[in-house]
Amino acid sequence: MNDTDPVDVAVVGAGIAGLVVAAEAARAGLRVVVCESGPHVGGMLRPLTIAGVETDAGAESFATRTGAVAALIGELGLPLDIALPRPGGAQLVWPAAGGIDRAPLPQRTILGIPADPLAADVVRIVGADAAALAAAEPALPAARAAAEPDLHTLAATRLGPRVADLLVDPICRSVYSRPAGAARLSRLHPELWRRYREHGSLVEAAASLAPGGRPGSAVGGIRGGVWRLAAALADLARAHGARVRTDAPVTALRAVDGGHELVLGDGSAVRARRVVLAVDARAAARLIRSPSGTAGPRTPGEPAGRVESVGEDDAVAVVHVAVEAPGLDAFPVGSGVIVAPGTDAAAKALTHVNAKWPWVGEALPPGVHVLRLSAREAGAFEARDRAALAREVALLTGVAVEAGDIREEVVMRWPVAASGMLPAEVVAEAERRGIVLAGAAVAGTGLASVVPHARAVGATLAR
Ligand SMILES: Cc1cc2nc3c(=O)[nH]c(=O)nc-3n(C[C@H](O)[C@H](O)[C@H](O)COP(=O)(O)OP(=O)(O)OC[C@H]3O[C@@H](n4cnc5c(N)ncnc54)[C@H](O)[C@@H]3O)c2cc1C
Repeated sequence: MNDTDPVDVAVVGAGIAGLVVAAEAARAGLRVVVCESGPHVGGMLRPLTIAGVETDAGAESFATRTGAVAALIGELGLPLDIALPRPGGAQLVWPAAGGIDRAPLPQRTILGIPADPLAADVVRIVGADAAALAAAEPALPAARAAAEPDLHTLAATRLGPRVADLLVDPICRSVYSRPAGAARLSRLHPELWRRYREHGSLVEAAASLAPGGRPGSAVGGIRGGVWRLAAALADLARAHGARVRTDAPVTALRAVDGGHELVLGDGSAVRARRVVLAVDARAAARLIRSPSGTAGPRTPGEPAGRVESVGEDDAVAVVHVAVEAPGLDAFPVGSGVIVAPGTDAAAKALTHVNAKWPWVGEALPPGVHVLRLSAREAGAFEARDRAALAREVALLTGVAVEAGDIREEVVMRWPVAASGMLPAEVVAEAERRGIVLAGAAVAGTGLASVVPHARAVGATLAR
């Protein structure tokens, strides 16, 4: 394929969405070019090595509710093994008189909305009175307000403030990187919203969707790291003739006879019959709105020593620490901890990586644990002060950990804005210009949403 030959499909962005579209289109016999601004494929799927083990820097699991990732691996014959997390689930830590309290996360909840508000694990966290209030929710009249309230208001109004503050808000912040007060249920979980509208009750909607099984069983991973999914898709696309270009930022999109022209950062151009934007919402909006202007390329996590940074000030840190502390051997907090707002902690979540994923434990040196801390706010953990990291780990796990127990830490910065969705008017503008959209900016956050959407886009292009 020559640079000057028009291709059938040009994909902008080699995150999981762009790679799924590229692999599907290339398998269908189309001529495909992928342009990725950064030096790596994968976007938010990135490898990271700590304590000699290659694991995930970004996404490390996928919700199994849609079965989409397993179907992708099976149907495309990707050489990957699905890994299941160790049973046991995670804990919630919340502020309480005299410090913090902790308890296992309730088993049957969707987005923190309890399927059974009177279950002992819900009562343990919110208290008997708040649980009884939530249990009475199905009897409340169905809300008929014209506009959808934010998720916190919806949950507080129907289930009471303690369920909203201690369950819905922490889980929303941990999974979707935003407070429930700044989120809409219909965008985060369209199926739960649809069932709420159908049943007129959040509790009944959650009960109709909540898994009955063991905690932790609602997610899967990939042996060797979820980042391998991106690598395998890029390999498959190439094997079917696609060209996957890295360090190739697209700075403008122009309409030309018979299709589109992509202008690259070095001034060169790629012509294509169809163009698919599979970039974050901010980059997508710039490209859609400014046909001859520039679209700032953004690359999640560029290395700068052992601090990997996107070079933006609205980035939030994820820190992996390798720790040798015997108190962690018993996996005291299961797969990790979600931290309720108001707790005196810099992290909003901690994952005990080798407790969650047995394959990581098998690869680590004896006695070494890997913990992953997700910062609550931009700027946290920037100093990489081992004493501060040890205090945080000790607070959240309840295990005595000193600065000297930390063997290694890797700080990675991820853009906050990358988690947003495209406004409807920009989506409409893209449609008008014949630009196809894929990725979390239109499908919603998470592989369980992004993958099936991108496969549907690929199938449409192939037709
Ligand atoms: C720290 C972290 C942990 C997460 N954990 C999970 C998890 O456990 N499970 C889960 O399901 N989800 C998780 N997510 C969310 C999930 O990773 C994303 O929803 C998903 O990967 C988004 O994929 P995407 O292809 O839409 O976008 P991205 O991965 O953002 O890919 C977009 C790509 O476009 C490129 N790009 C941008 N602008 C341009 C341009 N102008 N020209 C060319 N290329 C451009 C970017 O460099 C990037 O590679 C996590 C996210 C983060 C940040």
